[in-house]
Amino acid sequence: MPASQPIETPFVRVSGLNKSFGAFHALRNIDLEVGRGEFVCFLGPSGCGKTTLLRAIAGLDPQDSGSIHIAGRDVSKAPPAERDFGIVFQSYALFPNLTVAKNVGYGLVNRGWSGTDIRARVAELLALVGLPEQGAKFPGQLSGGQQQRVALARALATSPGLLLLDEPLSALDAKVRVRLRDEMRMLQQRLGVTTIMVTHDQEEALAMADRIVVMNHGVIEQVGTPEEIYRAPRTAFVADFVGHMTFLDAVVTGARTVRANGLDFTIAEDAEAPVGAAVRLALRPEAVQARAIPADAPNRFEARIGDLSFLGSFCRARLEPTGATGGSIAADFSANAMRDLGIVEGEIRPVAFPPEALRVFASAPS
Ligand code: ATP
Repeated sequence: MPASQPIETPFVRVSGLNKSFGAFHALRNIDLEVGRGEFVCFLGPSGCGKTTLLRAIAGLDPQDSGSIHIAGRDVSKAPPAERDFGIVFQSYALFPNLTVAKNVGYGLVNRGWSGTDIRARVAELLALVGLPEQGAKFPGQLSGGQQQRVALARALATSPGLLLLDEPLSALDAKVRVRLRDEMRMLQQRLGVTTIMVTHDQEEALAMADRIVVMNHGVIEQVGTPEEIYRAPRTAFVADFVGHMTFLDAVVTGARTVRANGLDFTIAEDAEAPVGAAVRLALRPEAVQARAIPADAPNRFEARIGDLSFLGSFCRARLEPTGATGGSIAADFSANAMRDLGIVEGEIRPVAFPPEALRVFASAPS
């Protein structure tokens, strides 16, 4: 698993940032560093503060306290125009009465570029975003995906040091979203522009980001590479928000054993809680094993295959271990496994939960 490296010279550094709207504390003491050329996603549920943080970095909604450095410069009090960023919003925000070329070149006119230079730069940018022939059209004559490409070209026009993306794909339909997501990521890598994107879509964040910042209630829960966030969530919130997870109420029975639903589980890491402590045992559905399980495999149980849902490339089953006192565990079986093993609803078969795939979290305070 590639681990996040410490950042030697952060391009963006946010320290002790706080922001309130009236009595509501939207950001609490945020510390964050983004490396030069990195693609970082702010991910979290609606209202967690990700847009507020992005807008504070842009200077559009200044923070109440704390500092922001961009490219080594303290911009905490600088107006947006002095922060050297390009921004793309969810709603495209193009000028409807200007042609595509004029939209893209807008910032260059303000900077006093000559007409010839603007035309050349606009042509270059439109080619970059795959719209070489569309300069004379108006935004209303383009599809949503095309309009967002124009917005991206406009944001990149002045070659900013920082690209800020506020849910840029969420207004698009699913197919266009995935295509544009891949294109934007490739473009970002080619240009090497430091990028921060706000999204509530975990798949988007996992696919695009070098590192993901998971936020909840105005605080950062975890910062890590997509693999770290997915495989080693540090809190139950992250585990639950990113990917699917079954949680079972459990009790610690030893250094590396817990009991849940009347079943004894071996875990690979110390529970970090005393024997008798109430914890939550968590397991991803795709980690459940069903193929050729040795009789002495750890966490091997006979389980009834409860509801089976067909989800395209895999099936999700509700497993009901036969010795359990209740509850079920979600398990995903690939189409291949379904066919090879002939898994059917209602049968009883051995399954195993690999110890290294089980995670233990503190119980939520009651
Ligand atoms: P979403 O995905 O829904 O946009 P978000 O994580 O980006 O969510 P923010 O827009 O950052 O959330 O908002 C964080 C919290 O601050 C929300 O509870 C929101 O209602 C509140 N908030 C944001 N802007 C303002 C404002 N101008 N006035 C009052 N409250 C605000």
